[in-house]
Amino acid sequence: MTSILVVGSVAYDTVETPFGTAERVLGGSASFFSIAASFFVPVRLVAVVGSDFEQKHVDALAAHRVDLEGLERVEGKTFFWAGRYSYDLNARETLRTDLNVFESFKPRIPQGYRSSSHVFLGNIHPSLQGEVLDQVERPRLVACDTMNYWIEGTPRELRETLKRVDVLLINDAEARQLSGEWNIVKAARAVRKMGPRVLVMKKGEHGVLMFGEQGAFSAPAYPLEEVFDPTGAGDTFAGGFLGYLASVQGTGALDEAALRRAVVMGSTLASFCVEAFSLDRLLKLTRAEIDQRFALFRQLTHFDPA
Ligand code: AMP
Repeated sequence: MTSILVVGSVAYDTVETPFGTAERVLGGSASFFSIAASFFVPVRLVAVVGSDFEQKHVDALAAHRVDLEGLERVEGKTFFWAGRYSYDLNARETLRTDLNVFESFKPRIPQGYRSSSHVFLGNIHPSLQGEVLDQVERPRLVACDTMNYWIEGTPRELRETLKRVDVLLINDAEARQLSGEWNIVKAARAVRKMGPRVLVMKKGEHGVLMFGEQGAFSAPAYPLEEVFDPTGAGDTFAGGFLGYLASVQGTGALDEAALRRAVVMGSTLASFCVEAFSLDRLLKLTRAEIDQRFALFRQLTHFDPA
């Protein structure tokens, strides 16, 4: 059966933007990813939370086709992250990262999750990402996120994990850092030599560039009048992207047309995420709203040759 296994953080976030502050709201890479992907296929979540994690947040995830058998609850505090954005919403400052129960997290994949057709390795230690892959049977597609922290701190482990990844989703600065190439085309070529057949390079409000076997594809970010909080946009993009791909990918190889639609679907989901703090907008979203904005994306990027 088609389903996505996701491993990553489930968190409480405190976020300051020029438009307001949200204190200890639901966040984490796996939360944003799961809700976005759940519009397309069932999702199986592997993460850890502390004894302070509220039942209403468990219920919010469970109400969206997110299987929580793999959500461990242990004594202690849930992972906490605090960040601040200036008017340049592309640049954020991390004010605090308290790993809490995440510090000793060892992902254990429930038996019923091991045959998942698609896997998303959220931004965690690359060796843990590798351990997740050791526990799954034969996924059709493995997608992965990472960040500067692991690129700098654990480069050898990251290289090992990347050999086993089909699609890597990182931002442009991370792609430059990982490859040591300033030019993004050269950076993409170098990253793809490390393992991933497809590199999805996220560029915040400037959209996304995908590099694959058939060259490059570019999609803008949806031009919104109100951008409230960019937290989680990257993970929401990943959820829309992989959720869509999983829903259309048969047993065969990735097809370029589907990959391109997946990039636009990821951008569509991310555009909703940034309209409110936390997962507030995503939790209220409907499939009809998604399809309507997906169609607007087509208009946005269409032009006639002459
Ligand atoms: P994004 O804006 O897509 O990069 O994701 C933001 C989310 O990542 C927030 O909700 C945070 O809780 C979570 N986060 C921030 N730092 C880390 C980290 N070091 N490890 C795991 N998750 C993190």
